Amino acid sequence: MDTGITGECPITLDEPPLLSQPRAAAPRDAETSGSFPSRLDKANPKWNDWKWQVRNRIRSVGALQECFPELSLSSSLIEVAEKYPLAITPYYASLIRRMDDLDPVFRMSVPQAQELTDPPFLRSDPLEEESDMPVPGLVHRYRDRALVMATTMCSMYCRHCTRKRVAGTREVTISACRIRQIHEYLVQHPEVKDVIISGGDPLTMDTPALERLLEAIRSVPSVELIRLGTRTPVVMPMRITSELTTMLKKYQPIWVNTHFNHPQELTPEAIAACGALVDAGIPMGNQTVLLRGVNDDPELMAQLCRGLLRARVKPYYLFQCDLVRGVEHFRTPLTKGLEIMEYLRGRVSGLAIPTFVVDTPHGGGKVPLLPNYIVSTSPTHTVLRNFEGMMMSYPEPHYRTEAEAAPVSDCGAARGVWQVANGRVSALIPAGSERTTRRARIQARRPMADV
Ligand code: SF4
Repeated sequence: MDTGITGECPITLDEPPLLSQPRAAAPRDAETSGSFPSRLDKANPKWNDWKWQVRNRIRSVGALQECFPELSLSSSLIEVAEKYPLAITPYYASLIRRMDDLDPVFRMSVPQAQELTDPPFLRSDPLEEESDMPVPGLVHRYRDRALVMATTMCSMYCRHCTRKRVAGTREVTISACRIRQIHEYLVQHPEVKDVIISGGDPLTMDTPALERLLEAIRSVPSVELIRLGTRTPVVMPMRITSELTTMLKKYQPIWVNTHFNHPQELTPEAIAACGALVDAGIPMGNQTVLLRGVNDDPELMAQLCRGLLRARVKPYYLFQCDLVRGVEHFRTPLTKGLEIMEYLRGRVSGLAIPTFVVDTPHGGGKVPLLPNYIVSTSPTHTVLRNFEGMMMSYPEPHYRTEAEAAPVSDCGAARGVWQVANGRVSALIPAGSERTTRRARIQARRPMADV
């Protein structure tokens, strides 16, 4: 497998990897080296320095235990952390409220023994990204879009990551030579209008390193839009510095898609980080992954979506968890996503409703799923239902062929969906819903003249 993030390049390697951290032995500051718990002390004067956060990540099961002595760890966790890297920023670790997987932040960041148990249908690369890489490190699947894997590093390794095969296996960033190859490919493929910079997490790169990549992509005349896919505002919000936003503004239009999964992640710091990006003229979207035991609850999802809108982040996608090795314990049935979508409609603003998608196996791409709002159809009418269960007849266009307009005999059935489908009844309204009761109250209060 060559993801193109290796720093190796068949032409020349004129620069070392732009930011590279050894996995096991990340240096720690002197003041934290004596005692792990001080890493989680927000009073530390370096707390808001993102590079300090990176240097002081929890990187091993031993460090985890030292930070959280009350944590009971099974012996298999060392094996899990060897297979799938562990990293938690002090900031993100500070959001953990209880030391078991009932805590969503704990569940998303602390290795679990179940990661070693895979049903046979799971794959390391279920979306077959490696097969859609014309240049190593560049995924070209949809005609007008391409995705650049800019780094294999993240500040926090999500246990549910879809790129477990890449993220954190080695922490290296794209080489200058690879950037040139990608630039060349984009120039030769003007059909690509939208380039997504992903990884790993591109905001773990130093600002000048990220700028070199942005500069190269922006210099391709046919590229209209650049998107950054990053979980940094969630797991290390202090990275969103004015130095970063000032740099990003030079390469507009840029959009940022981030990855909040639970309201517990919507801290004042995270909200401020999103605000700083939006204030810099960078629109933000959010891609939530539906995760068992984390956010597979309709009301919790409604809270998350409302909170995101307040933070000026548009809920964009709700992803079904991918069929990736090591994440089976996070997967939910498809019906759970549909149940959540059913719940959201009518209860939160349309702006707060994401699109529920399954990124399908074999590189089939994203398939949106919705509850069914079409109850029935006939040539003349379509029966739609709303979130309350109200059924309405929607007349098709008046102008139609003779055959389309042929009358349909009424077999005298009791009033039901069939009559709505044929326009004989314009709606079926369930009695006793909140809205019909409110309407009845309004109607009862109206003076006779208004009726
Ligand atoms: S931030 Fe993204 S790429 Fe990194 S571990 Fe999390 S899901 Fe994977």
